[in-house]
Amino acid sequence: MSRISERLRVSRRIAAITESATLAVDAKAKALKAAGEDVIGFGAGEPDFSTPAHIVDAAIAACSDPAMHHYTPAAGLPALRAAIAEKTMRDSGFECTASQVLVTNGGKQAVYNAFQVLVDEGDEVLLPAPFWTTYPESIALAGGVPVVLPTVEDTHFRVTLEQLEAARTERTKALMFVSPSNPTGSVYPPELVTEIGCWAAEHGVWVVTDEIYEHLTYGDHRFVSMPTVVPELADSCVIVNGVAKTYAMTGWRVGWMIGPPDIIAAAANLQSHSTSNVANVSQAAALAAVAGDLAAVAEMRTAFELRGKTMHEMLSAIDGFDCVAPEGAFYCFPSMRGVLGRMIRGQTPETSLDLCELFLEEAKVAIVPGEAFGAPGYARLSFALCDDDLVEGVGRIAALLG
Ligand code: PMP
Repeated sequence: MSRISERLRVSRRIAAITESATLAVDAKAKALKAAGEDVIGFGAGEPDFSTPAHIVDAAIAACSDPAMHHYTPAAGLPALRAAIAEKTMRDSGFECTASQVLVTNGGKQAVYNAFQVLVDEGDEVLLPAPFWTTYPESIALAGGVPVVLPTVEDTHFRVTLEQLEAARTERTKALMFVSPSNPTGSVYPPELVTEIGCWAAEHGVWVVTDEIYEHLTYGDHRFVSMPTVVPELADSCVIVNGVAKTYAMTGWRVGWMIGPPDIIAAAANLQSHSTSNVANVSQAAALAAVAGDLAAVAEMRTAFELRGKTMHEMLSAIDGFDCVAPEGAFYCFPSMRGVLGRMIRGQTPETSLDLCELFLEEAKVAIVPGEAFGAPGYARLSFALCDDDLVEGVGRIAALLG
């Protein structure tokens, strides 16, 4: 046996990353589509709109600028860092300097950096579930321990102060907070954001707050930024954000983290050894986005609100489904527990994973099972797709179960 095969080929750290449950469904959906099947996909977590023209034009102009052809500071273009600081004041009332902003490859790298910088081996991070799949993996990759706090539809998937306090130990380093939420679409009311922020500040618990869906709220629900309503948190809080959802820019890969200067300096140091600067052309596009107005997102928000209503009504009419009306982001997150164990086309799915496979095979509809988000029994459906597909896709599920 060679010396190479005697040893583990993949490091323990990377081998421990949980395979995403979304992959199984997604791979099947893609295979069916490639085979010419008419599959409707509710899996994508991205707007179906194109990036606004003035943003694309800024990127085209940047392509011809020789300064953009070379390395730039790892922490981001100075003009973009300054514009992000200004935009943050404009949109959420949080005051920070450009040096407190680190431009990252999407919000995803901001999450990764935040935990790399904050967490030591064995540190605990409180993680309300259902959660976005990247959070527990980023925490674990930093050597941290995700402490999962389950929430349910009756409380609109909001974690309570009692849960946080019951889970707090000497090793609690941080709380991962997101509102509006992926995958549940829930939005925390300002009073609860304030209470949670005060609790964290009082007990020296850091907060990583993901504000990527800040502009997508519906009805009376409104986003508030935790360090704005709890200013004493400013020195122990990291904000994660990006252009992906607000400006339909998922493919451009620009996000950012905002935090105390020492944390941002440490994260910039990490980034200088991992990815260096985010692609300059993308940063130029992001600069046009954040320095411009919010007209495009207002239009998308209006379209999403209507689609969310349609999807919620259709899902709520399905016997065995229980769905909270979406308050923000662009997801419905129905409980499907009332359908599990029921005979459907000769099969008896016992889990949401089985049921989602059945939807794909029998109705050609791809939705993401709750297992992917630490919430078996549920599923996530994105309503960031065109109206006709939305109605046809949910209609197919209803017909299959009917
Ligand atoms: N946070 C949340 C809650 C998200 O849903 C996403 C995208 N799915 C991100 C962060 C990261 O987005 P990106 O890396 O594309 O900026």
